[in-house]
Amino acid sequence: MKSLVKQIRFPELEGILEFVQDAAERSGRWVNWQIIRGKRHIFWETDRDLISRWAQSIIETEERLRETTQHEKFLKDCIQKFQASSDEATKTILIPDMIEDIISLDHEYTRLERTYDTILAGCPVGPIKSGYMWIRREPQWYLRSGWLRDDCARRGGCCGRECKCCEKPPDPTRKKGWGHCTAQCACCNTERGFRLSERDRRLLQPDFDLTIYPWSDYSREMFRAYIWSLE
Ligand SMILES: [Zn+2]
Ligand SMILES: [Zn+2]
Ligand SMILES: [Zn+2]
Repeated sequence: MKSLVKQIRFPELEGILEFVQDAAERSGRWVNWQIIRGKRHIFWETDRDLISRWAQSIIETEERLRETTQHEKFLKDCIQKFQASSDEATKTILIPDMIEDIISLDHEYTRLERTYDTILAGCPVGPIKSGYMWIRREPQWYLRSGWLRDDCARRGGCCGRECKCCEKPPDPTRKKGWGHCTAQCACCNTERGFRLSERDRRLLQPDFDLTIYPWSDYSREMFRAYIWSLE
């Protein structure tokens, strides 16, 4: 919700920010432009609770979309491996189970896409919504953020290894599922001996909660990286 008091007090400032933002957008300077949007957000967006709840839901839904996509890839890789094996029992028991799981993941992805669209439509109109949508015009926006790449590497994800999986999206039809590793990443699971231990899973997907104040350092960095693409 915009503050009327601030609109009255800072009309010139808003005009200047508008002008600088347009100039930065025309120059194609991604980082500068996002910083300006971030500053506009600090001046104009006052309903912190609403923004925090919205950001938490959309980041979580993006994470679920990535998990679903990466889990599908994991199962498809397993099926390929099992098909090449000579163990008939494995083929006849495990493969049909995995195919069933793939079908339910497909339904889950469609459900999550609808949830995502609903959350996006519910975003308060203003710099935060336009900034968020501007960043995601590129499906591989997450590769632009040094913090997100470092975070993936620190969590034990593929950005810390030579495989470069995050740069090779798993499925061209699942653009909303592209991004850095979750606990379902096929490569990360195989790297640690087929399935992640509970400790590795927690490390690869740490908790964050933007609805709890004060924000932890990790929550703050998540908000800056996912919503503003700021380092
Ligand atoms: Zn990898
Ligand atoms: Zn990975
Ligand atoms: Zn990554």
